[in-house]
Amino acid sequence: MADRILTGIKPTGKLTLGNYIGVLKHLNEMTDRGEAFIFIADLHALTLPIDPNELRQNSIDLACFYLAAGLDPEKAVLFLQSEVSAHSELNSIMQNYLYMGELSRMTQFKDKSAKMKENAIGLGLFAYPVLMACDIVLYNATVVPVGEDQVQHVELTRDLVNRFNNRYGDILQMPKAEMRKVGARIMSLSNPTIKMSKSDPKGDIFLKDDLAVVRKKIMSAVTDTGCEVKYDVENKPGISNLLTIYAALKDISIEEAEAHFVGYRYGDFKKEVADVVCEDLGKFQEKYHYFLDNKLYEEVLKKGAKRANEESQKLLKKVKQAVGLLTVSE
Ligand code: ATP
Ligand code: MG
Repeated sequence: MADRILTGIKPTGKLTLGNYIGVLKHLNEMTDRGEAFIFIADLHALTLPIDPNELRQNSIDLACFYLAAGLDPEKAVLFLQSEVSAHSELNSIMQNYLYMGELSRMTQFKDKSAKMKENAIGLGLFAYPVLMACDIVLYNATVVPVGEDQVQHVELTRDLVNRFNNRYGDILQMPKAEMRKVGARIMSLSNPTIKMSKSDPKGDIFLKDDLAVVRKKIMSAVTDTGCEVKYDVENKPGISNLLTIYAALKDISIEEAEAHFVGYRYGDFKKEVADVVCEDLGKFQEKYHYFLDNKLYEEVLKKGAKRANEESQKLLKKVKQAVGLLTVSE
């Protein structure tokens, strides 16, 4: 059976090199393995306060980023989550099959809510993994390409699939998370012990950054004591992060990257990392502008929504029937 791929990114802020390396850059290879449903997770973006104009603009940007990363609209269905109502409908059913206890153990909820006042934490932030599980099962996804931070949510989806199928029969497809071997967790350049993250930008490289700025950020990235370019996350988190970025963009292993930099000084090493990042991002930015300036994303998103609506209705109907919701119209 061919794989069915499902993946999404929230239009919550400026996309980072972490999003690029973790998911975007290799989407193209993914879509060769089977039909892919790729969405702009705009409903998820509402789980933290966001300005409406910014959300709209981010959504357009994200569509163009996907296209610039080489997503082929003939092979992949690209759509806005909020334009496919089955996501929300399935959510109102599935929220009854995931439990408060397990949701409150989600690391991402704990991290994000820890920074907020208790009376400002929306229910949506807490229930985020329920909607994410719906996003996945709606398309019978078998493979979910994600960065490391999302693996826990895919595991929860797997629990839901087991629970639901045990009760109602073989309705939902079992998905699995798939991470890049190199680059599943790109760290902040200013604090390499925390993840590069668009909603909490510290030491981030943004995909739209001017290349001169990108170079500067890499040259001033926090490094570690010592002088050897070695992969050692515990003792050399800064160097290890830069090595990971280099290896991921060159599509080589960490060992190969290490071997390349034997005898390098930190300054020369950083310069070469900066060269590789700037070259890759430069080409990517050109393509992004092409899709944006010609508004090519509009047709793609329209066609995508139509296809995603058709496809998602099938599973939604099956679920409604399974749980006993009576249908008299149609
Ligand atoms: P937010 O701070 O709003 O959660 P984010 O940068 O974590 O933003 P998401 O929209 O949550 O981005 O995630 C989009 C995809 O990018 C997910 O598959 C996620 O696992 C991946 N991703 C996010 N950050 C990184 C990172 N630092 N390294 C590798 N992959 C990442
Ligand atoms: Mg995230």
